[in-house]
Amino acid sequence: MRRERNERARRAAGIALAVALTATAAGCGSAAQTPVSETWDDLFGTVVTVSLYDKMSEKEAGAVLAAIRARGEVIQNTMTAHSPGSEIGAVRAAGGQTPVPVSEDTYGLLTLALEVAALSGGAFDPTVEPLVALWGIGTETAAVPAEADIARARALVDYRRVTLDGAGRTAYLPETGMGLDLGGIAKGYAADEANRLLDEADVAHAILDFGGNVVLRGGHPEGKPWRVGIRKPVLGEDGYACVVSLRDGAVVTSGGYERYFVAADGAVYHHIMDPATGRPAETGLLSATIVCDNSTRADALSTACFVLGLDGALALLDALDGVEGVLIASDRTIHTTPGLADVFAVADERYVWVNAP
Ligand code: AMP
Ligand code: MG
Repeated sequence: MRRERNERARRAAGIALAVALTATAAGCGSAAQTPVSETWDDLFGTVVTVSLYDKMSEKEAGAVLAAIRARGEVIQNTMTAHSPGSEIGAVRAAGGQTPVPVSEDTYGLLTLALEVAALSGGAFDPTVEPLVALWGIGTETAAVPAEADIARARALVDYRRVTLDGAGRTAYLPETGMGLDLGGIAKGYAADEANRLLDEADVAHAILDFGGNVVLRGGHPEGKPWRVGIRKPVLGEDGYACVVSLRDGAVVTSGGYERYFVAADGAVYHHIMDPATGRPAETGLLSATIVCDNSTRADALSTACFVLGLDGALALLDALDGVEGVLIASDRTIHTTPGLADVFAVADERYVWVNAP
């Protein structure tokens, strides 16, 4: 638990540094503009930082930040598997018995989650909850389960068995013990919703970072694109492996380093499950980053790509329009999709961009 908190704190500090560097680099002799920025460490089990770069009064900025936070809380409370009274929890509790009416938010997000599940052949699967609960990675009780328990939990994971009914806006799981976990997509949705609130408030320049789900808005006020660092995914290494420069869009990373536990024998088990094996995904990828215009989709796809491994991820990304990716393998090689060639740069010489143009 302590290690997890340290990791999160480090990540938050890292992103802040990237933003500061961008701001001063764009300065051209004038004083760099400092953002109005707030960081919360009690949403989605991660660190959320919202930075607004428009010139606005403290009162205006405060209202925008409060609205973003309130929206994030609603999303967390309805969609987090373990919030008491969450809709997702209610659907689980009624598994094998009855469909449960859910909010528009939850229904829409489940629909999108099932879409990405189908696209990825179940590598991303919102019914992964029994496996997540069994392993308990990130909780005090994390432990390597018995094989029989893994097999039992795995048999309950299958996105094709979820029934969504648009007429009554209900969700149904056909078997007791099945459950939903939107942890691989909810932060991305919260970031998109925050971005929508910035549309409504006419904020032109901002960076939203929902625990590694980054949404960029409008580029830096002084004209340069934002630069987003992609963390070195090797445990124990700090800083960035590479950087993506963009004015607008979502940059979302899934990595085994984000949440994990170390067993007595030194083996490391992280939080992204491979539904095919019932264990943390071991495909040779250390992180998968998706770049596209929608952070919800990017979030689900980053988790999917991490589980699919390099070849499967490249094949999936190749089939999707407007979706790019950065895949970092355990030998510190970096693979990018063609659309990133002009906006991508390596930041540490130990990492090798194997398909550099
Ligand atoms: P992310 O950091 O977006 O990759 O999401 C990881 C989180 O998604 C985990 O902490 C779980 O809550 C959940 N999760 C784990 N494995 C999967 C999977 N194969 N498909 C969908 N969600 C998953
Ligand atoms: Mg994700």
